[in-house]
Amino acid sequence: MSLQKVEFVETPGSVVRKCPGTKHHICCGYQTIDLVEGCVLSCSYCILKAYLRDDTIRVSCKPEGIIAELDKMIDERTDHILRFGTGELSDSLAIDRRYNLNRFLVDYFGHKQKAILELKSKWADFRHLLPHLNPYTVISFSVSPQRFIDAEETRTSPIHKRLKAARLAQDSGCFVGLHFDPIVIYDGFERDYRYLIADIGRMLDPARILWISLGTLRFPPALYDLLLQRRRRYLLSGEFIRGEDGKYRYIKTERIRIYRMLYRLLKDIDPNLFIYLCMERADVWQEALGIDMKDSEGLVGLFDERVKNLYGGTL
Ligand code: SF4
Repeated sequence: MSLQKVEFVETPGSVVRKCPGTKHHICCGYQTIDLVEGCVLSCSYCILKAYLRDDTIRVSCKPEGIIAELDKMIDERTDHILRFGTGELSDSLAIDRRYNLNRFLVDYFGHKQKAILELKSKWADFRHLLPHLNPYTVISFSVSPQRFIDAEETRTSPIHKRLKAARLAQDSGCFVGLHFDPIVIYDGFERDYRYLIADIGRMLDPARILWISLGTLRFPPALYDLLLQRRRRYLLSGEFIRGEDGKYRYIKTERIRIYRMLYRLLKDIDPNLFIYLCMERADVWQEALGIDMKDSEGLVGLFDERVKNLYGGTL
C-alpha cells in the first residue's frame, strides 16, 4: 500500500498514556496505547503531519511490559471502566494484518474482562483478527461521506466497505463504535451526511453500536498553513476561529448547527444511541444537544453507565 519506511524502535518510557484532551474542553477520559507512530493512510488533514518529524512509521511493541502496565492500571482503577485505544498516533488496522500488532491486546482484554480495547480505523480489513475477537474489543470506524473520502482520504477504505466491516464485527459478537470525525463543511455536506446516516441505519444493528462521537474539523496553526499552501478546498470552506487551545475550528454557531443536525438524524435511527461530542465545551453540549455536561467527570460517568448497561454484569 505504501512506500513509507517502517522502523521497529525501542521507546523509552511507557507507550500507555492518558489522552491529553484539550484545555477548557470536556474530555472523555480515554487511554491510548501508542504501538505505532505515523500512518500509511496519509489523509490530507491528518494532524500527525504537524507533529511528527518525518514520514517514517515507528513501531514500538513490547507486549510483556505493556500488559504489566495495563494490569496495574486496570486493577487499581476500581471506580470506573477504563477504555483504551491504539488509534491515536496511527490507524489501528492499516498495517495490522502485516505486522499483527494488536493481537496480544485483543487476547489480553478478552481474558481480563474488566476494561475495553477500541481499535479505531479507516481501513476495513480485520479478517486476521476474526478468530480472536471477543466482546471486550470494540471495532470502530471513522465515517465520512464518500465524496469527502475521495478528495481527502484517498488511501483509505471506501465508506461502504467500512460499514460492511462494522456489520461483520457486530455479527461476530463485538460492539462497534462510529466516529464522525472530522465533520467537514463543504458545498452540499448536509445532504451527504443525511445519506450516510441513512446507510448506517440500513446496514448496522443500532443495539450493537456502543458509542458514536461527533467532532468537527480542527487543526493546529502549522497544519492550517499547510492546507492553505496545498489549497485543500474541502477543508477550508467554513469560517474558522482560533480556540483557547490554539487550534482552528469552525465558529461556534456552525458547530452547534452541525451537531444538532447529526444528533437528530442519528437519534431518528434509534433514540437509545449513545452520542458524545469530541473536545467541545460545556456551552456547546448544552446548546447543541441540550445536555448539561458540567465537566469531564460527567462524561466519564455517562460512559461507565453506557458500558455497564450494554455489558450487563460482566464488566
Ligand atoms: S487514518 Fe488517521 S492517523 Fe492515518 S493518516 Fe488518516 S487521520 Fe492520520
